[in-house]
Amino acid sequence: MKDHNNTAQIGHYIAGRIVWDADRTQPVTNPATGAVSGQVSLAAPATVDQAVAAAKAAFPAWANMPPIRRARLMNALLALVRENKDKLAEAITREHGKVFTDAQGEVERGIDIIEFACGIPQLLKGDYTDQVSTGIDNWTLRQPLGVVAGITPFNFPVMVPMWMFPVAIAAGNTFILKPSPTDPSASLIYADLMKQAGFPDGVFNVVQGDKVAVDALLEHSDVMAVSFVGSTPIANYIYETGARHGKRVQALGGAKNHMLVMPDADMEKTADALIGAGFGSAGERCMAISVAVMVGDAADKLIPVLKARAEALLVKNGMELDAEMGPIVTAAARDRIAGYIAGGVEEGADLIVDGRGYSVAGHEDGFWLGPTLFDKVTPKMTIYREEIFGPVLSCVRVATFAEGLKLINDHEFGNGVSLFTRDGNVAREFGRQVQVGMVGINVPIPVPMAWHGFGGWKRSLFGDMHAYGEEGVRFYTKQKSIMQRWPESIGEGAEFTMPVSK
Ligand code: NAD
Repeated sequence: MKDHNNTAQIGHYIAGRIVWDADRTQPVTNPATGAVSGQVSLAAPATVDQAVAAAKAAFPAWANMPPIRRARLMNALLALVRENKDKLAEAITREHGKVFTDAQGEVERGIDIIEFACGIPQLLKGDYTDQVSTGIDNWTLRQPLGVVAGITPFNFPVMVPMWMFPVAIAAGNTFILKPSPTDPSASLIYADLMKQAGFPDGVFNVVQGDKVAVDALLEHSDVMAVSFVGSTPIANYIYETGARHGKRVQALGGAKNHMLVMPDADMEKTADALIGAGFGSAGERCMAISVAVMVGDAADKLIPVLKARAEALLVKNGMELDAEMGPIVTAAARDRIAGYIAGGVEEGADLIVDGRGYSVAGHEDGFWLGPTLFDKVTPKMTIYREEIFGPVLSCVRVATFAEGLKLINDHEFGNGVSLFTRDGNVAREFGRQVQVGMVGINVPIPVPMAWHGFGGWKRSLFGDMHAYGEEGVRFYTKQKSIMQRWPESIGEGAEFTMPVSK
């Protein structure tokens, strides 16, 4: 696996062309080697203006194109993304660090959304009532908003942008993506695939950057809506600032996903699920399980199995096909997570497996951290309350199902949750009572499929609508109601009372 030439310039994609704005740049690194692989441009407000102008110019013709023709271009994109799946996955692993097979899975879940967006003619179909009053018909239709923007996190540089732009664009909007500057290269690969698929220039644009670019988008009067995925403090900021500037906003935030383990669960299968969901992608998933809540004697049965499995996990360069976990995305993130581990020890949790000080032979400059397992974590501890976003699994012991459920419902986040049990009634009650947006019953990471929509509750989502699925279509369109009659059925004289059906 070769790194990019370390002079690689990662620019913006505006109106079908790569644009390089050299005022401010940031290095991009390969987390497995620590080597700098390129420089990404950080857009100035003038570059954002250029992108918004390109998207605005492309909007009228694009919105006016029949949905079936927009769907045909989506179909062409679907084929191209499938053909380029491995190229995209390699770009992810090179800059994010997750293992290659996991990166392939990420692309696959993005492909699902493109496939969903191919059904846009059906999804945009309106309602119609014949004869709402004598000689009058009424129908509703959904129309695109205009220029819309997506601001996305480092942890899914392909899938999360694809939660947004295929649906927004198929619905007739033009789009500006502001990806994470940590792993920006994939965005230019799919920008090129959009061009190859035949999307007109300006329909899809990429602006690389940081807060400067984000603020320029949030304040721009020609940006009609903003979709955001990232950490909770920034999601909150995006929601408030976007709303203040009159935009429609959906802002998906951070998480602290629990798995409640009942004593009757199959402990071998539960251990497999916890190891995969806790340490897969080095815990850098918004749907990762970071807390295992163990009811009754479940902990006594599970902890020894978890310890043995965590210690045996193969942590190495994600491009090596037997790797089970790759490096942490940056040195700063690795150090932040190590700080949480030290804090957990200080606050009195039992450190069962310590991932600090991990090193991989031949890649000593990579950003390594091994899987970490804590037992006897309590709700007051910082490692329980805060999102760590790393390979740290905290086990909390409770006496009853009710105690575990209350713990979950009291947490400020409500993104995903999972229950492992063999008891159907417990499962049913859990599903009904838990205050979390996405629930798995014997499913550790219940990321909904493309046509169901993705979103958490509480401080994991600011806004009313979930990403993708039919909620996504609603987010990117506004409803119009048209009422119509023809001169033959218009009565005589002016009417001064509220019209009612006659
Ligand atoms: P982040 O919040 O640091 O960054 C997300 C985006 O916001 C990036 O594009 C970044 O450039 C931009 N940004 C960062 N700081 C900003 C600021 N001060 N002002 C304006 N914009 C700013 O998140 P991250 O570290 O890239 O990603 C990890 C976080 O994302 C975790 O908290 C994770 O839970 C969350 N996440 C949530 C979901 C979900 O669906 N709920 C999915 C994936 C990731």
